[in-house]
Parts: sequence; structure tokens; C-alpha cells
Amino acid sequence: MNPENIQSSAEMPGVPNAFQHLWTPHRLVYIQHGQQPADEDCPFCLAVDKTDEEALIVFRGKHSYVLLNLFPYNSGHMLVCPYRHIATYDQANTEEVAEMAELTQQAMRVLRKISGAHGFNIGMNQGEVAGAGIAGHLHQHIVPRWRNDANFFPIIAETKALPRLLGEVRRDVAAAWSEA
Ligand SMILES: [Zn+2]
Repeated sequence: MNPENIQSSAEMPGVPNAFQHLWTPHRLVYIQHGQQPADEDCPFCLAVDKTDEEALIVFRGKHSYVLLNLFPYNSGHMLVCPYRHIATYDQANTEEVAEMAELTQQAMRVLRKISGAHGFNIGMNQGEVAGAGIAGHLHQHIVPRWRNDANFFPIIAETKALPRLLGEVRRDVAAAWSEA
């Protein structure tokens, strides 16, 4: 795929090596769907009151929770969010930092177990200028990687947008969470 031919940011996951350019694919998807949401419409705050299935939540901790990214870069792309609506990492308290770290480690174990991930991209975009899709609410990305996975992105991109597939991934991750 020639990047210059891309009509929609939804095609971005099909671009080999796009991920090496920080996290901008996610940002582009959100920009396409509109501007940053108002704080009262924050999707990471609203998700907590929904069912796990509706919100793609895989685990609820004491201070933070884990959900699948609605716009995954790769199958199994997860986000760890504190429950509190805080924008940046330095605003997180000791308990939140500790639990986000624990949940990130657990997410890695789960992804390795259920999908045989060979590697991971883990990171937090701080602020809209740094590429945060939802800049008002801190979230850590955990993206599983497989050797040569870039070669499969055009194929994955055709199927991974299906809600049914995301639901299946959520179920598998949630089921493996307590065992990994
Ligand atoms: Zn929020």
C-alpha cells in the first residue's frame, strides 16, 4: 500500500512500519471521528459504567482497569486506565502508578499466553500534541507484536474492525486474565 493513496486513517494499520512513527495512527483515527471529547463525554470515564462486553473491559482493578482499544493497531491491543480522570502520568498517585504497572505486566503475560506475542510496544502519549487520542484521560497502550506482523496488517485491517471479533478477543483475554 502506498501511504500517499490512503483515503482514510482507518487504513493506517495497513501501512508497514507506521507504528515505528510513534503512536500517530491512533490519533488520526480519533481526529477523523471529531475533536477531543469534552471531559463529561470522556470515553474512559463512561466505559466504567457499562458492562464489560459493551465497553470491551477485560479486567477491573482497584484503582485502574484494562480494556481493548476500539481502534486496535494489532489484535489484542489493550489500554490500562486509572479510574480517575487525570490527564498525565505525573498526576497519578502512588497506588495508581503501582497498579497500572502490575496490570501492564499481566496484560503482557496474557497476550503471550493466548496469542504467542513475540514482543510488545508499551507507552503513554501525554497530551494531544504528543499524539494522545483521548488527551484528557491517561491511558497506557499495550500492543502485542509478532515477527513480520507488518506483512499481515492489510489482511488484519479488513477483519479486525468487526465488533464481533473484538468481542471474541475480549472474551479470550478476560478468561485468560485470572490464569496467566
Ligand atoms: Zn475520563
